Amino acid sequence: MNHYECDLLVIGGGLAGFCAALSAAQAGLQVVVLEKTAQTGGSSAMSGGCLAFAGTDLQRFHGIEDSSQLLFDDLVDVGKGECDESLVKLYTDHQLQTYQWLKDNGVVFADVIEAASGQSVPRVHNVDPADMVRQLQLAALATNKVEVWLHSRARRSAAQRGWPGGRGQY
Ligand SMILES: Cc1cc2nc3c(=O)[nH]c(=O)nc-3n(C[C@H](O)[C@H](O)[C@H](O)COP(=O)(O)OP(=O)(O)OC[C@H]3O[C@@H](n4cnc5c(N)ncnc54)[C@H](O)[C@@H]3O)c2cc1C
Repeated sequence: MNHYECDLLVIGGGLAGFCAALSAAQAGLQVVVLEKTAQTGGSSAMSGGCLAFAGTDLQRFHGIEDSSQLLFDDLVDVGKGECDESLVKLYTDHQLQTYQWLKDNGVVFADVIEAASGQSVPRVHNVDPADMVRQLQLAALATNKVEVWLHSRARRSAAQRGWPGGRGQY
C-alpha cells in the first residue's frame, strides 16, 4: 500500500468539497480531494443553481431589502420547528461572507434575482451550476496546494464501521 501525507483529505469533488479544499489551500494547507467517479461536479453540477443569499449587492441593485435575520426567520418558519436553529444561525450568520467569497473566487451570478416558495422577499441568486464547481476547482488547482484524485473512492475502515479490532484508518 502506498503511503501519502496531506494536511487535509477532502472526500468528494462537489461544491462542498471544493469550497473546503480551496479555503484550506488559501489558509496554507496541502489538500487532496478524493472523487470516486471519473469526473468532479457531483450533484452540485446537476443542480438548479439557485442559491439563497440575503442582503447582497445584487438585491440592493434591484431595490430588495433583505437581511440574515429575515433569512433565518424564513428558514425556521419553513422548518416548522424541526430544524436545529443553532445550525441555521451558523449558516445565516456567514451566508453573506460566503456569497462574497464565491464571487471573489470566480463564481458568476446572473443579473436577475428570483422569488421562491418559503422566502418573504426575492433572494434566489442564479449560477450555472457546473461552471460554479469548475471555477472553484480551477481556483483550488491554481493555488498549487490541491490535488484531485479521480476514480478514488474513500472507504470506511472496520473501526469506523464499529467492528472490533479495526485499525481506524482510511
Ligand atoms: C436535481 C437537483 C437540483 C437541486 N437544485 C438545487 C438548487 O437549485 N439550489 C440549491 O441550493 N440546492 C439544490 N440542490 C441540492 C444541492 O445540489 C446539494 O445540496 C449540493 O449539491 C450538495 O453538494 P455536495 O458537495 O455536498 O455534494 P455533491 O455535489 O453531490 O458532491 C459529492 C461528491 O462526492 C463524491 N463521493 C461520494 N462518496 C464518495 C466516496 N466515498 N469517495 C469519494 N468520493 C465520493 C460524489 O461522486 C460527488 O462527486 C439540488 C439537488 C438536486 C439533486
